[in-house]
Amino acid sequence: MTRLLVLYSGGTIGMDHTPEGLAPVPGLLPRLLQRFRTPALDFDVLEYPQLIDSSAIVPAQWQQLLDDLIARYADYDGFVVIHGTDTMAYTASVLAFALQGLAKPVIVTGSQLPLVHPRSDGWSNLADALEAASQPDLHEVCIAFNRLLLRGCRARKLDAASFAGFASPNAPALASFGIQAQWQRQHWLAATADFTPVKLDVSLKLATFFLTPGHASTLAGQIMQAGELDGAVLMSYGNGNTPADPALLAGVAALTATGGAVLNISQVVHGAVEVGAYAASQPLARAGAVAGADLTPEAATAKLLVLLSQGLRGESLRQQLATPLRGESS
Ligand code: ASP
Repeated sequence: MTRLLVLYSGGTIGMDHTPEGLAPVPGLLPRLLQRFRTPALDFDVLEYPQLIDSSAIVPAQWQQLLDDLIARYADYDGFVVIHGTDTMAYTASVLAFALQGLAKPVIVTGSQLPLVHPRSDGWSNLADALEAASQPDLHEVCIAFNRLLLRGCRARKLDAASFAGFASPNAPALASFGIQAQWQRQHWLAATADFTPVKLDVSLKLATFFLTPGHASTLAGQIMQAGELDGAVLMSYGNGNTPADPALLAGVAALTATGGAVLNISQVVHGAVEVGAYAASQPLARAGAVAGADLTPEAATAKLLVLLSQGLRGESLRQQLATPLRGESS
């Protein structure tokens, strides 16, 4: 018998029609979940007192999820986190980096239509998440959505208008669910060392800058020079190119000099930052920005948060940022 813990944080999947519009209804989802019990599958449900629209999530709620999962880690074979889709890829990425040495499946899921809708995608997403969370040789955080199992720190919400809400543009799916589940075990992470989860420092100040032609690069540089930030993600063009804007470069150098880091990732969905592919990528690298390869914005934010929370600064922070830790980059 497999025993799972389902942590229910909110999102569309458990919402119902109220006079104000769709809103989470306490108790609804735990009741609907009962149909998934079988002689081979038992689970407990932890419903949070404040069910949220995931657009409202803050790092303290990530820490709450981590605390609950860690406290019950030994008691269950796997975990399912039910979550809104808007920030699902951020939460999956934070869990992936913070649950260092994870040796059990943690599957995050939700839906585009609530379970009470006749055409809800939530039923199949839940079924696939529960099945994935029952695989003893899956040692990572994944998103189960639209009949795919994706690495959590590779996944992105790329579609708000169809059931195919998530994809992992730079990595293959870890499974697909048809009449048979097709487990792509050759892509799964190997089990690692001891389970040593990281406590988040929720006071850290991080920012993400999406460059656009015009004043954006100067403004980003000025904010980085102001000394408020612990780290930043810079979403540059193409293979990691930026204008050689003196304010931007001074900002990157200033933030790097404080021991923080600027992680350079691409705005482009497919492909990677490759320093040297174009001369326009060099000034930023010389100023100290770390090349983030094909990291998603969600994974870049989560990796920076978790590594800074571990107390890494300066060269050791930069070195870990550039090293794939959980299969998050190529
Ligand atoms: N706004 C919702 C949320 O992220 C969307 C969803 O769940 O699909 O909580």
